[in-house]
Amino acid sequence: MAEKMMNKTTGRSNNNDKSNMVRSALFTFVLICFGVFLIMNMNYGGPQKTEVPISEVIKRANDPNGDIAKLTVTGNTVDITLKGKDQPTETSRKDGSGTLYDQGLVNHCEDLEGDELKACEEKYPAIEYKEDNNVWGIVLDVALTILPIIAIVIFFSWMMRQATAANSQSMAFGKAKAKLYGPDKKKVTFKDVAGNESAKQDLTEIVDFLKNPKKYEKLGAKIPRGVLLAGDPGTGKTLMARAVAGEADVPFFSISGSEFAEMFVGVGASRVRDLFSKAKKNAPSIIFIDEIDAVAHKRDARGGAGREDEQTLNQILVEMDGFDNDSGVIVMAATNRVDMLDKALLRPGRFDRHVNVTLPERKDRLEILKVHFKGKPVSEDVDLESLAKKTAGSSGADLANIANESAITAAREGHKSITNADLTEAFERVAIGPERKSKVMNDKERKITAYHEAGHAIVGHVLPDSDPVHKVTIIPRGSTGGVTWFLPPEDRSYKSIYELKDILARAMGGRIAEKLIFGTDAITTGASSDLRNVAELAKSMIVEEGMGDGTRNLVFPSEATGYYTITTGKPYSEKTAEQIDAEIKKLSDEASVRAENVLKANKTVLDKLAEELLAHETLEEAELEPILKGAKLPETAKLHK
Ligand code: ADP
Ligand code: MG
Ligand code: ZN
Repeated sequence: MAEKMMNKTTGRSNNNDKSNMVRSALFTFVLICFGVFLIMNMNYGGPQKTEVPISEVIKRANDPNGDIAKLTVTGNTVDITLKGKDQPTETSRKDGSGTLYDQGLVNHCEDLEGDELKACEEKYPAIEYKEDNNVWGIVLDVALTILPIIAIVIFFSWMMRQATAANSQSMAFGKAKAKLYGPDKKKVTFKDVAGNESAKQDLTEIVDFLKNPKKYEKLGAKIPRGVLLAGDPGTGKTLMARAVAGEADVPFFSISGSEFAEMFVGVGASRVRDLFSKAKKNAPSIIFIDEIDAVAHKRDARGGAGREDEQTLNQILVEMDGFDNDSGVIVMAATNRVDMLDKALLRPGRFDRHVNVTLPERKDRLEILKVHFKGKPVSEDVDLESLAKKTAGSSGADLANIANESAITAAREGHKSITNADLTEAFERVAIGPERKSKVMNDKERKITAYHEAGHAIVGHVLPDSDPVHKVTIIPRGSTGGVTWFLPPEDRSYKSIYELKDILARAMGGRIAEKLIFGTDAITTGASSDLRNVAELAKSMIVEEGMGDGTRNLVFPSEATGYYTITTGKPYSEKTAEQIDAEIKKLSDEASVRAENVLKANKTVLDKLAEELLAHETLEEAELEPILKGAKLPETAKLHK
């Protein structure tokens, strides 16, 4: 959204190089055309033909004992092939546009058939009419033949230019494609960024410095040079960087790390140089390197494949080190993965200011929703607060997406304004995928799904540290057959081991319910994503959180953090790896046992819930309550008093 509000002007300033390139391409084109013409002419010309008057040709052609085998007519030209020859050796011109018959040639073989026709054709010349290949036809032919050649020549010269671009500043290709958001364009300000108060607070200082650099210089304050915005994807880092430029009213030069990745050898570094020199000319200004992890990941995690990235990264470091204290340029960068960044970037004098942009809390989510519903017509019944409550863990981008999807849904349904139902549909669509009412499920599958979801719901409801059940449905959505939603009553930053174990158990609840009702061998593929979730959560509990019984308080660096690669190998022994695997298995076994104990103890509730689901397909919190009320927690599923 913010993207569209800004008018961008690209900072390209070297038309000279461009026209040079066009000129040399044109020159090559002409040269090739000329060469091909010469070759063609040689072929077309062939051996010299004798010119004879047309009257003589007609006379000879009408003679049963004449020497002509074939007459080839091309436009007004008549080429004569003699008997026993395979090429025309004589040529003539007929008068006007008429046929040869108009000039006196007799069609001797007309009306003859069979052997008589054959004998006749032996005596008299055959007549062949050819397309009139005028000059333009030839030109077209030539053009079609050499066009691919030209394309290849241009491509190669372009490649050569890129290869040399690294050493030559004059090449158009190495120039930064940085977008400049000038002060006169429509601005993004802190008002457009909802929530994130502490990040805004941190950045206010940067804004102030950009506005009044003198104030800081006078006091000998060292000006921050690099600010790193860190946070999950979609939390508004890019938006925040633009807002800083907007607040300070300074030019904003931005480039994305992923753009560097697409470049040819040496171009990345040259773009960095160009970007910094432009920013210095326009100081005070902001350089923004979005997704900097794309070029600046740890050198050891990169294997041998990153030499180009390394050049780009080094150039960024060189430019930042070369800044004067009063250059008035602030470099901002954004990343989702601070842990992946090369440490060299984070040293003093480089990106030494860190601003964390976090996932929004409930009240911030409400603010973000308000920003994105502003200007959209909404019905009375729309309840943004309950949506804010339901969307724990969603980023600003997710919320913007929900707002947009709900407008789309309302339009599709033909509503005049967005209803709460549109909102709910949009939320579930964004969270899981579109509803697929058309997906056919036979009665058996519906029954399995109903028991599966009922299993999740009951285990989740009964276990003390799991969140309350919000909604259960057996309408397929996305790639799932049904969904059971649990909603946290409030946002929490930490989860206890009890809570995580309850989450594991309720995830197992689906498959266990299937097993109890349809038998051990009736296992379906419907639980694969549950099992994957269990495996992932159990692994992170052991590897990242130190929650294993036998590995309590030990954490193991994972490959995802870039701490090690396949080539360097795991930084722990095979024996430890086996221990980790055993701990993970222990967690998931425990979870299935607890789920099984809960469901065995609540068989009647399970049947009842499944039955209600089959009848109504979707049950909301209020409808679930009377059914789940009878469920109890067996001693065998308890973890603590
Ligand atoms: P990031 O760069 O952190 O991945 P973006 O800045 O690209 O995230 O955010 C994507 C979109 O999400 C923004 O254009 C905006 O529409 C929305 N958004 C994210 N965070 C917020 C916020 N705090 N307030 C308003 N909109 C937001
Ligand atoms: Mg971004
Ligand atoms: Zn499931």
